[in-house]
Amino acid sequence: MGERLVIRNVGLMLSGRMEEPILDADCILAVDGRIKAIGRAADIDAEGATVVDAQGVTLAPGLIDSHVHPVVGDYTPRQQQVNWIDSTLHGGVTTMISAGEVHMPGRPKDIVGLKAMAIAAQRWYENFRPSGVKVLAGAPVLEHGMVEQDFKDLAEAGVTLLGEVGLGSVKDGKTGRQMVDWARKYGIQSTIHTGGPSIPGSGLVDADMVLETGTDVIGHINGGHSALPDDQIKCLCESCRAGLEIVHN
Ligand SMILES: [Zn+2]
Repeated sequence: MGERLVIRNVGLMLSGRMEEPILDADCILAVDGRIKAIGRAADIDAEGATVVDAQGVTLAPGLIDSHVHPVVGDYTPRQQQVNWIDSTLHGGVTTMISAGEVHMPGRPKDIVGLKAMAIAAQRWYENFRPSGVKVLAGAPVLEHGMVEQDFKDLAEAGVTLLGEVGLGSVKDGKTGRQMVDWARKYGIQSTIHTGGPSIPGSGLVDADMVLETGTDVIGHINGGHSALPDDQIKCLCESCRAGLEIVHN
């Protein structure tokens, strides 16, 4: 029959879907960790289940943080912080997407080295979920000298993401465009830094470079550190078909 969990007396049940954000439900049944039924308590069989009384709180799907910089395990050296993924879970985030493992001390910038690290990072977090949080990692940062075969190799090894364009040595739209096109050809999603430099080695990425590079996602368009001027943000919002990443705090 499986391990059954019922959460009832939910005040507000959110679906996570734009079409129908609020569900007509106050009770949820999970069997072996998977949701099996959502509805009214009277309609859900709670027999043999562990029952949790939510006491009227809101229940929502886990949040997705679309922009993190993981390194190894639940540790990030840039902020000298342990358990930062676990802490983020307390804010409701259950999935994280890497925008590049750029905080790795001694990050390799040669092609073989950066590919090896991306593949390793993808594996680390595939095999390790801190406090249950899913971390989609293995996002290589573009460096000069990468060729089409490198993107093919990465994709075949399980890499599905690029780190932010602009954090590596590729800082011109033309080279960025070529590499983003190769990545896209092999099913690797791309994103780009925007605004002023964020870490040592990064540089200004303005609206012209974003438009020329043509990534799938435009990173932190409203800033987060030093944002682009308002007119450039407006220009990108009005002229791009890319996903726009918005920072909140
Ligand atoms: Zn960035």
